[in-house]
Amino acid sequence: MYSAAVANDKGEFAPPRFIAEGELSRLAKNLRILGFDCAYSGGFSLPETVVQALREDRILLTCKPVAETEKLQVHRINSAEPRQQWTATVAAFSLSSCFHPFSRCLECNRQLRPAPTCTDIPPESVRERGLPVFNCPQCGRYYWEGSHVQRMRERLSEWGLSLPKSSSVLSEGSVDDR
Ligand SMILES: [Zn+2]
Repeated sequence: MYSAAVANDKGEFAPPRFIAEGELSRLAKNLRILGFDCAYSGGFSLPETVVQALREDRILLTCKPVAETEKLQVHRINSAEPRQQWTATVAAFSLSSCFHPFSRCLECNRQLRPAPTCTDIPPESVRERGLPVFNCPQCGRYYWEGSHVQRMRERLSEWGLSLPKSSSVLSEGSVDDR
């Protein structure tokens, strides 16, 4: 019933795109941590969210009973518990083979890009160690391998998902190379 991730016509992997509705902001953020394109409709009504899902070809993630149509794909979330919401979504769409962690802005869902080397935004300890720094082209936030990434790793580990350091785009270099 659900479409799993498939390769596009270039043979590249093309995971599904989502839009999370209403109370599913944490699910949206957790999917973004793993690199999935998940819009969040906070502040918009359900009909407005459906319009956006159709316009942007996104699968609607919702706790509400919303009927699927020929064009609207809906994934009903039946749990209020973030871990269960996340694991059910990953399983339903076979997402576990295509994690691209820490490659997307957690706030606005945009793909991160390497930050200019001249930036003095990260703390000196990060710059001294030469760690790669990325920023969001939309909101301007900066990201690097720091304590926030470590906390995310720990949370995912608690959920049974271990991310080796080498799997993090933040420790590998340019997101544009992918
Ligand atoms: Zn952003």
